[in-house]
Amino acid sequence: MKLVTFTQGGTTRPGVVMGDEVADLGPGEMTALLAAGLDRVRASRVRFPLAGVRLEAPVLRPPKFLAVGLNYADHVAESGAERPALPTIFNKQSTCVTGPYDPIHRPRVSQLLDYEGELGFVIGRRCRHVPRARAAEAIAGCVVLNDVTVRDWQLRVPTWTMGKSFDTHGPMGPWIVTPDELGDPHALGIRTWVNGELRQESNTRELIFDCYALVEHLSTAFTLEPGDVVATGTPGGIGMAMNPPRFLVPGDVVRVEIERIGHIENRVVDEPPAREE
Ligand code: MG
Repeated sequence: MKLVTFTQGGTTRPGVVMGDEVADLGPGEMTALLAAGLDRVRASRVRFPLAGVRLEAPVLRPPKFLAVGLNYADHVAESGAERPALPTIFNKQSTCVTGPYDPIHRPRVSQLLDYEGELGFVIGRRCRHVPRARAAEAIAGCVVLNDVTVRDWQLRVPTWTMGKSFDTHGPMGPWIVTPDELGDPHALGIRTWVNGELRQESNTRELIFDCYALVEHLSTAFTLEPGDVVATGTPGGIGMAMNPPRFLVPGDVVRVEIERIGHIENRVVDEPPAREE
């Protein structure tokens, strides 16, 4: 299945892609749908043309948005780091989540805006202390994700949270592809383009800590819940590591594509004026 969150006729709800249509699974939201169990999903006869709806991030506000740094050998090398013995886990704030085709804001406070194309996975059931052998059961499916990063804000202090969490810096989608349709999540080509220029090209088989190792590691410390999203790390080819570095500027279009899942594509714009909230 390809599970989406979509807006049509002024309401946002979950759906399932059936060919070139979306079958309505609403009302409600993806996290509740996952918690109820995907075996209970029954596609409604209410359907809309896929091209006529707005696709949102499949999980609008994940309970947790976790990410892994330094998880491909070529990215470890370009970062000047040692191959890690343990996963480097950090948080992106869930307010940074945005849709698969929505704009990315270049912040007022920085010009060092960078992309990180990544495989993401979504937790499907509440779990703790999951051994590797059972980790696949915890995963509802996979998404394409861009771990957008503000490099100076990431690196000027010891923890990365601020630089990883600016609003709009978590585009994901276009859908959650479930394991029955996806097959092995560790044999997928992954590529990132900026304005049509290929910047990152790898395969998820190159992950140092794969999805199952990450589920086992994370659930050692805390409960994973339906709708939690984990960004698995980026391959080599980030803008900061180019010589000279090339950061994203307004007008740039970043496309991340993963084999058997699909692509997300986001245009960079200047952060709009502050809203009164
Ligand atoms: Mg990353």
